[in-house]
Parts: sequence; C-alpha cells; structure tokens
Amino acid sequence: MCGIVGYIGEKQAFPILIEGLKKLEYRGYDSAGVALVKDQGELNVYKTTGKVANLETLVDGKDIEGHVGIAHTRWATHGEPSVKNAHPHVSMDGNIAIVHNGIIENYQVLKQQLVDRGYMFNSTTDTEVLCQLIDYYYNNNGSNLLSAVCSALNDVIGAYAIVVTEKKNPHHLVAARQSSPLVVGVGKDKKEFFIASDATPIVEHTDKVVYLDDGQIADISINNGLHIVNHSNKQCQFDIKTVDMDISKLSKGGFDHFMLKEIYEQPNCLRDAMSGRLIANAEHPENNRIVLSALRDYRDRLVNARNIIILGCGTSWHAGLIGKQLIESMCRKRVSVEYASEFRYNNPVVDKDDVVIAISQSGETADTLAAIQLAKQHGALIFGIVNAVGSSIARETDTGIYLHVGPEIGVASTKAFTGQVAMLTLFALALGHETGTLSDSEYHKIIGELALIPTKMEKELEVTEKIANLAKMFTYAHNFLYLGRGFNYPVALEGALKLKEISYIHAEGYPAAEMKHGPIALVDQDMPIVFIATHHKLYEKIISNMQEVKSRKGRILAIVTEGDEHVREIADNVIEIPKTENCLVPLLSVVPLQILAYYVAVDKGLNVDMPRNLAKSVTVE
Ligand code: GLU
Repeated sequence: MCGIVGYIGEKQAFPILIEGLKKLEYRGYDSAGVALVKDQGELNVYKTTGKVANLETLVDGKDIEGHVGIAHTRWATHGEPSVKNAHPHVSMDGNIAIVHNGIIENYQVLKQQLVDRGYMFNSTTDTEVLCQLIDYYYNNNGSNLLSAVCSALNDVIGAYAIVVTEKKNPHHLVAARQSSPLVVGVGKDKKEFFIASDATPIVEHTDKVVYLDDGQIADISINNGLHIVNHSNKQCQFDIKTVDMDISKLSKGGFDHFMLKEIYEQPNCLRDAMSGRLIANAEHPENNRIVLSALRDYRDRLVNARNIIILGCGTSWHAGLIGKQLIESMCRKRVSVEYASEFRYNNPVVDKDDVVIAISQSGETADTLAAIQLAKQHGALIFGIVNAVGSSIARETDTGIYLHVGPEIGVASTKAFTGQVAMLTLFALALGHETGTLSDSEYHKIIGELALIPTKMEKELEVTEKIANLAKMFTYAHNFLYLGRGFNYPVALEGALKLKEISYIHAEGYPAAEMKHGPIALVDQDMPIVFIATHHKLYEKIISNMQEVKSRKGRILAIVTEGDEHVREIADNVIEIPKTENCLVPLLSVVPLQILAYYVAVDKGLNVDMPRNLAKSVTVE
C-alpha cells in the first residue's frame, strides 16, 4: 500500500514527483505530501489530506524549488488520515525527512525509548518513530545519514520501504526495503536517479532499474551515484535490469475510468498472455498444444507433485478456486486453495513433494509473499502466477508464468483476474497432458476453444450498453446475492466482490445449492439475485434454485448461455454469453458481472478507480 517517489538529479524534482505520485495513486490516496531539498540546504515540506490533486493546489504559489525530493501518497495504517499523519515526516530538529510504506511493528517500544531521550512527536504514526530514531543515531553517531539509517533499521521489526533525505547534506538520498517494494531507476549517464514503489512512474524517464532486495539500503548521490549496502553497511553487488513497459497502458486512453478500459482490454490481454504459450490451429487441431517453460524446466517435480496448494488473497483467491477445479479435473491431483494470510499462521502441512502456486497481480501482496517464503523453507516448489514483472513474489518463486496483461491501475481487479484464470487453464492443460490424465482429444479440443475466448469476449462487450441500462435499476439495493455452481461458483464470489468493492453494496456469493441453508432467509422483493446459469450438467438444478427464489419474490438477473430458452421464463432479466467448454465459462461469465458492478458504482456517483478504504497493492499484513 501507499506510493513512494523520490528524485535526485539535475532537474527540478517537484514535477517528477507529482507525476510519479499520480501514477502510484492507486496504491493509496487518503493523504499526500512532498519534501523538497534546496541546494543550499533548505527543506520545504507540503502535506494535505485527500488526493494528489489537492497537493498540487496546496503548493500553488509556494516555493517548490529543489533537485532532491521525496513524496508519498498514503494508505493509513497507524493514525487517521490527516495532515499531521501524512508523510513526509520530519525529525524534531527539522533536518531529516522520511517517506515510508509499511508498518513498524515495535514502534511503541521504540517510541517510549525516544520519549525517554527527550523526543516529542507530532503525529500518531509508526513512521514518525522511525524518523526520530534515524535522527537519534544521526546526532549521536557522526552525522552520517547512511549509517544512521543502518543503525535505526537494526532496531526495527516490521515491513518497510523508506526514502530518507536531509538538509544538512542536501545532495543525497538513502532508501531501504524490507518486505515492501522499492525500485531505483538509473537515469542518463547515471547522473539522475528515480525511486518508486513500482516501475510505473520511472519508465517514462528511464528503462534501467535496480530492484532492491530485502535488507538492502541504497545510498544515492549526484556525485557518487548509486551504492547498495546491507544493514552492516557492507557493499552489495547489484544488477541494472531493463524494464519493458507499454506507457500507453498507464493512461485512460479515452475511457472514463481505468476499470472500464481494463475491462475492454481483456480480449487483447488474453491474446498477449497466451501468445507463444498456446498454439492452436483450427484446421489441424491434432497439433494444438501448450508450451510452458516451467513444465519443461520442472517437469518431474510438477508431474510427481503429491499435493498442489494454491495461495492468494481476494480476487487472486477466487482465481485459485477456479484453478483447483481445472487442475483436479484435468490432472487428477488433490488441490487446496488457501488464503495466504491464514496459511502462513496455520502450521501448514507442506513439504518437498508439494507444489505451491502463488497468485498475485502486484507480486507484492505481503501475506502471499510471507506464505511462499514459509512453504519454501519446507522444501515445496514455488510456482508464481504474477502480473508485475520483477516483483518480490516473482523473484521469490522457483518458476511460474507472468500474466503479461499490462499494468492494472483500477483498484478493482478485472483483466488480472481473467489473465490469472487463463494462465491456470494453460497450466492445468499442460500438466494434465504431461501426466496422462487428460486425453489427447480433450486436450486438443479445449486448447482450440481457449484460442477463441478473446473473440467471444469481444462479442460480450458489444452488449455493454444493455448491462449499463440494467445497472440503473439496482442502485437502490443494499444487498445482493450472487449464485453459481461448479466453475461458476468462484465467479459468483468474484462478481459479489466487484460490486462491494466499488459500489459499497453488501454482496455475497454462494454455491447456488447452499442458498437454502441460510441465505434464502434474506430473499424478498428488494433483494436482487444474480444467477450464473450457463449450460452444464447442473443446469436443471440451478433452474430449481431460481424457482425457489422466484416463489419468494426475489428479483433475478441471470447470466445464461446464448440461445437459452428456459431461464428467460423465470428470470426478470437475462444476459447472454457465448457458448464455450464448461471449464472455460468463467472467462466469459465474469465479464458481464464486472460491467454490472462498474455501472452500478458509476450510477451511484462513486469513484470507481479509487474506492474508499481500498488500495491496489496490499503490502501490509
Ligand atoms: N504505517 C505508515 C502510516 O500509517 C505508512 C502507511 C503506508 O504504507 O502508507 O503512516
């Protein structure tokens, strides 16, 4: 959570920092701030509640000069969103300024020690404690910022990405990471440097980056360039990597919101994600195949895996539930799907014969990262399904598949979800075929159908307007139920999550048959119920569930297979989706649910891309 940006170089820092914050605003947006250091050693700090745009208004007419600066957009963990709690925090003597992403878990103990030494605090944040602690070591240890940061971090328990600057020595920055992401961009001739929580604010300036590792501290100055040390102040080697990111994906491209743009990007995203991995030829389906380097490199461990454990949080966990059905049906292996946050504390049964699949859009989800580190200690093979290239989870895994769906900015995940489901499908197909549990004919047939999904999604998007009109009827609702069976049960969960995330309407997903074990008590004429009732072996049963709801006057919106006749007679409204293989239906059935949630939120006048209390990249536990 939260976005950090830093700059040091020959240019004016402020415009670079502000543009960077705007790109990171999806990570947190309850307050924002900037600290600028002038060459002659003057520090100016500006902070405001709310969005980055408020910060721009605040500094209007103020002194924003400086070639060195740090900036932050906050997602509060300790202390309400307020100007005092906003970052940057400044040390008591006004010399040091810090921005921080994460949580200092032992801040109370450290704070008490600092109070005993005469320190006073302005805010209720954990971050200010770290700031004063650095200041303490700075003033008692030779006024060297790098060694002060090293000493302070040795006292700290928790997760952090920090960037620190000082006015007494105005030409350098110190940055460090432990469990929260931080990237350093290396500019032209190594004469300017950019620091950010992820590469998105950096790529328009340079494609050369260094991903800091846990326990590393970067010392960056205009004269001496970039040096990286560990907590004992010993030099570390580092690689400068080249990032390949399409800058056009970082703008709304004519859409009102990133979320709608990302919904519309899905067909092409899936084409990109499957390119080179799915080989399909309609005329010679016998040549259809899946090519995954992970299957080649780790064939034996994957084929012989005793159990497969899928870890994720939120939308990724829903994708994992679909993955379970895909892998169990195609590979006949036992699969469990765990919330990463629970798995890591539950003394899990996992060992070297197991494969752990970690799913995360950002690749920075703190719980998932900690869970795979634990599974790794137990010897399991770690397979990542991650979108953000070079992210912490991607680097921690043994092998895996990148989604290649481009940066996802809307906080409510859409294209990453369909990307994750598509990658899980490729994995299950490849592994099932390799283990011999999936017949050649099924393998070839499903691959052929999967290749058609992007075009079918495009067809679905043609009825967006119809769904937009339907959405208008639901803005009154306080509760929603989403029901589905089999592959559509996780889709029901995901549809409900989308709605609650951005429209603040309480929504629950259930397996349709479970309805009569509780949720049916909620059904009345005011309760909209979304049934995902596509053709499959449980179709008749789901129709019976629908009848039960109708008898209690519930209002039914049904997602059906094109050409369906029966559901139309019972449901109040239907949305048709193209026909496909049962195991591929989630890729199509989720799309109208994304569009519905989007338009309900828009009609309620809500900020779809930045829903309250949420942030995109959940880097705290
Ligand atoms: N724990 C810090 C705070 O509450 C940082 C939160 C963040 O990552 O934005 O201020």
